[in-house]
Amino acid sequence: MLLGTLEAGGTKMVMGLTDEDGSILRRHTCPTRLPEETLQDIIDFFNPHPIDALGIASFGPVDLNPASPTFGSITNTPKIPWRHFPLYDRLKSALNVPCAIDTDVNGAVLAEARLGAMQGLDNCLYVTVGTGIGGGVMSSGLLVHGLIHPEWGHTIISRHPDDPLLIGICPSHDFCLEGYASGTAMQARWNIPAKELPDDDFAWELESYYLAQLCVNAMMTVSPQRIVLGGGVMSRSSLFPKIRKTAFKLMGGYLSNPTADEMDAFIVPPALWPDSGLIGGALLAKQALEQEK
Ligand code: ZN
Repeated sequence: MLLGTLEAGGTKMVMGLTDEDGSILRRHTCPTRLPEETLQDIIDFFNPHPIDALGIASFGPVDLNPASPTFGSITNTPKIPWRHFPLYDRLKSALNVPCAIDTDVNGAVLAEARLGAMQGLDNCLYVTVGTGIGGGVMSSGLLVHGLIHPEWGHTIISRHPDDPLLIGICPSHDFCLEGYASGTAMQARWNIPAKELPDDDFAWELESYYLAQLCVNAMMTVSPQRIVLGGGVMSRSSLFPKIRKTAFKLMGGYLSNPTADEMDAFIVPPALWPDSGLIGGALLAKQALEQEK
């Protein structure tokens, strides 16, 4: 079995070929440009290979309502040329194999739950903290969709009273997570990239305060058995102990578990990063193939 996977991002497209276990055999990256030229690159990569199915883990928002005539299209993205682009339909008809599409972060949660840091768990949350913030949820073994799909980056948070950023940078919300805790928000607040801030900078106290709110809100709503935090900002490993400590404090003793000692195993980095989304695409492809049989 040869599976095709596409991690479709706002800045780059990562394509891969995997075996049936999701092991990456070959990969190729190209920059995301206008839809038509980018699509041609993707088709040119897959065409010479006899893939059995394709899985797409895409930036969003994406129309994932199976009953919708525009299923698999990008919807209200700030990347204007990509708005309403029928990514799923175009790739399915060009490659003529079973296809599946989900968000990049739903792909990542699937990969981490099946093969990575949340193996054996059926109720999982994966959040990526980078230029933007997004999160995918698995509940009782199934990826969560509904109204559209979860948008963790735009959950409303409380501003830290000592935060010099008075209003978040999100064009839609004054006080959402992405507006306060994305790498873009950190850059706007401190005027230097997050990776240049030293470990003991107050910036990381603020960052942990916001990401801890995300974790507690998730614990009280979707009740994950583990939370994986990935993405460029989370490559700062000293952030994890801060988030665990603040999340435990914000939880206020309301839940009897995780205990303080269990927080180390509850909020963790990804095991498959930076390939969580790409491997997730392969697992989506395998599901598409099984569903067509
Ligand atoms: Zn927002």
